[in-house]
Amino acid sequence: MSSTQTRRKISKRAPAEAKEDAQSAVQRRFLRLGLERQQDFVVHLPLRYEDETRIQPIASLRPGQTGQVEGEILHSEVQFRPRRQLVAVLEDGSGRLALRWLNFYPSQQRQVERGKRVRVRGELRGGFSGVEMVHPRVTVAGGELPDSLTPVYPTTDGLAQPTLRRAIDQALREADLSDTLSEDIRRRYRLMPFDEAIRSLHHPPPSVSYQDLVEREHPAWRRVKFDELLAQQLSLAMARAARLAQRSRAYGGAGQGLVQRLQKGLPFALTAAQQRVVAEISADLARAYPMHRLLQGDVGSGKTVVAALAAAQVIANGGQVAMMAPTEILAEQHHGKLAGWLEPLGVRIAWLTGSLGVKARREAIEAIESGQAQLVVGTQALIQDKVVFANLGLVILDEQHRFGVGQRLELSRKGEEAGGALIPHQLNMSATPIPRTLAMTFFADLDVSVIDQLPPGRTPVVTKLVSDGRRDEVLALVAQEVRSGRQAYWVCPLVEESEALQLQTAVETHERLCQALPDLRVSLIHGKLKAAEKARVMDAFQAGEVDLLVATTVIEVGVDVPKASLMIIEHAERFGLAQLHQLRGRVGRGAVQSVCLLLYQAPLSQVARQRLRAMYETGDGFEIARRDLEQRGPGEFLGLRQSGAALLRFASLETDEELAAQAQELARHWLEHEPGRAQVHMHRWMRGRQDYLRS
Ligand code: ADP
Ligand code: MG
Repeated sequence: MSSTQTRRKISKRAPAEAKEDAQSAVQRRFLRLGLERQQDFVVHLPLRYEDETRIQPIASLRPGQTGQVEGEILHSEVQFRPRRQLVAVLEDGSGRLALRWLNFYPSQQRQVERGKRVRVRGELRGGFSGVEMVHPRVTVAGGELPDSLTPVYPTTDGLAQPTLRRAIDQALREADLSDTLSEDIRRRYRLMPFDEAIRSLHHPPPSVSYQDLVEREHPAWRRVKFDELLAQQLSLAMARAARLAQRSRAYGGAGQGLVQRLQKGLPFALTAAQQRVVAEISADLARAYPMHRLLQGDVGSGKTVVAALAAAQVIANGGQVAMMAPTEILAEQHHGKLAGWLEPLGVRIAWLTGSLGVKARREAIEAIESGQAQLVVGTQALIQDKVVFANLGLVILDEQHRFGVGQRLELSRKGEEAGGALIPHQLNMSATPIPRTLAMTFFADLDVSVIDQLPPGRTPVVTKLVSDGRRDEVLALVAQEVRSGRQAYWVCPLVEESEALQLQTAVETHERLCQALPDLRVSLIHGKLKAAEKARVMDAFQAGEVDLLVATTVIEVGVDVPKASLMIIEHAERFGLAQLHQLRGRVGRGAVQSVCLLLYQAPLSQVARQRLRAMYETGDGFEIARRDLEQRGPGEFLGLRQSGAALLRFASLETDEELAAQAQELARHWLEHEPGRAQVHMHRWMRGRQDYLRS
């Protein structure tokens, strides 16, 4: 219904009814902001403040600032060039200021007639003749000045600041502002009382530094952030408790025979870090509630074999295992590797991806349904509706951050269907380390195992930044490396805007390199190739029959060819930090010295320069992740565009690590000893948001 229709309808009704209608329109807008209970209004805090407490001399104002001045109108006229506008000049003894209106009413014109004394407020701009204000707010000079900063609240269309302010002020008078934290706790964490914090954020006393307020460093903000983080921690801990109340099959006891045989058959010994995480996972699998563990280990740290050992334990105890990878190439490679390790031990493995032929696909699905297949390796195709597992006991997600929250949920649902009330265990693997703050907040319901050690004999990759102008030198280096028996990757520029363009770039790059390096065996791999073709190219590269593999980012994750020792990334400035780290991780997997060349096109933007410098300065995945978080915010770590960061309105994952740790400590204490307090606190802060926090 258009607003004119609404208005007409209202005018026909009795005045009381019309008033009710208008009220409910306001209610709806409040609801849109999540404001329903008085408590919600209480914690709807200002975005920023306006300082209306003082009058400033015109001479002190700078463009870009908001200013409030008083003075006399020297001159006022309607001009017609370049368009109709009202222009007035205000003088206050310190200087002159032009005021300009592009639309105006006669009443406004009268307000600024020559000789009037007025107070104006607005943003300063550099104009043609000194500073000016466009569409300033005008009142009569000499009015009372408020004694605290004026809050500006987050709002929504059609909801004016004064309406919000009135509703919030009313809530502040009527709502229960009692403290959810005891005095002891407040003293321990140096927190101010809740009511004091809330009141001073809504109506900051004149003593408060404006800077502290806008930068959210004032103790009042500290208290609010703590409360928010505490509510989040409580909610996560409750989700965890709910998980522990679910049932899974326990895969303990009988498994060790197969696990040991697998370990003995490996061509290497596990690192101490691998042994530790294998033990952690093994203990989880032997429990009768679902494992929800993140296996974190830098690129090349050897996560696949850990997954294989976990799979062996479940299989030996009669359960099925599904292992899912985000790309077909990676799934294919896992399949090859796991088959190599496990099939000789009698484990039956099925393979399922979207590109499988009809017959092969039907066979795979039958094997999964009948329980004939003990391990299923594949891509997203594994979570399609048609696939029903006979007895799914463990789900392994490789490169878990590549999957959306929805896909992850769906996979665990698969197990629920099959096993009735039994939930499969879940192991998520990722080379993208989750920074500590995130691990503590959004991932707090995950247990985390970290492989913090690379297999022995690795030599750190040497990274060089090379400007695009020195391409000839790069080609010479490639030729030289290949002559000495090495292999190389050449990663094509990322073209985010268009997949077609991306493909074209890859094809062209391949052609150019074939011409430039006629003696080399050069192949091309990209996402649009048929699965069988991709597999053929990868196999040839693996077997050393290809010297230079030109690739799009399809090789970004997981690909493991130890003999490749040179990585060239073209237009490196277009890639994200995590992506560059993953790409670089494709080399440095053997004992030989590996090199990664980041080709860039000058001039570099500030951000791109920082990114490339980070790559140059460190090879440590955790440090890279930390800088990535700094540069890009937490979205990337939370899974594809599933940023839950919006859940935190006040606290910041980048800067409030210490507070988050304290909140976590208190949350644990409360849930164990004072669950009543936990409930009251959650009630104040959580609104209807608990749902987001699962998965
Ligand atoms: P990522 O953690 O990146 O998935 P992979 O599982 O692909 O790493 O392992 C990288 C390479 O290291 C593989 O070739 C793997 O077989 C090898 N590897 C794994 N563990 C060890 C080990 N303990 N000693 C030597 N090589 C290992
Ligand atoms: Mg891997």
